[in-house]
Amino acid sequence: MGNARTAGVLALQGDVPEHLGVLRRLLGSDRAILVDSPKNLEGLQALVLPGGESTTLSELLDATDLRNPIKARARQGMSILATCAGLILIAQRVERSPGGRDPVPMRLLDVTVRRNDYGRQPESFETPLEIDGMEGRAFEASFIRAPRITRTGKSVEILARFDGAPVLVRQANVWGLTFHPELSGDDRLHRSFLRSAGLL
Ligand code: GLN
Repeated sequence: MGNARTAGVLALQGDVPEHLGVLRRLLGSDRAILVDSPKNLEGLQALVLPGGESTTLSELLDATDLRNPIKARARQGMSILATCAGLILIAQRVERSPGGRDPVPMRLLDVTVRRNDYGRQPESFETPLEIDGMEGRAFEASFIRAPRITRTGKSVEILARFDGAPVLVRQANVWGLTFHPELSGDDRLHRSFLRSAGLL
């Protein structure tokens, strides 16, 4: 039925081709699709919300009528991997940015985030991360004007931290990352996510 055994990438703006490339490599091209309208969500088992610009993405979610169907499918168990701007979109709460227009979050992950909050670091940087449950070498993580997770709810598991804050968290079928795993040339995170979604 529909897109069962398939994963998608929200294709409105941002790091879309990079995530699609990883999904195609891991699942094959016929099981990795672009999602830009509600009908693409039918039967879909997992969805990646890429990094980009969260206010623009939030407006595009409304313009395409994708906001409520994504929320509904995630609540029914569709797996979500949300990175950076994507994480901001699924947070419970986004702290107000000074003078900025902020996105409206979907409240699928019980965290509070503060945008662009690694000010003492260069705007973009890479750092090796130790991730719970990941074997072998550290994961080389790229942070690009990353949000900081400033609060996690009781049901949120913290799988990696950096600079005193969680950077990889999971609440059942919903994964949130403040960094960009699609840029590391290392598929281990996508692999663990797809495995947890029953796709690998
Ligand atoms: N700074 C961006 C925002 O707040 C997120 C950056 C990213 O996704 N790389 O929307």
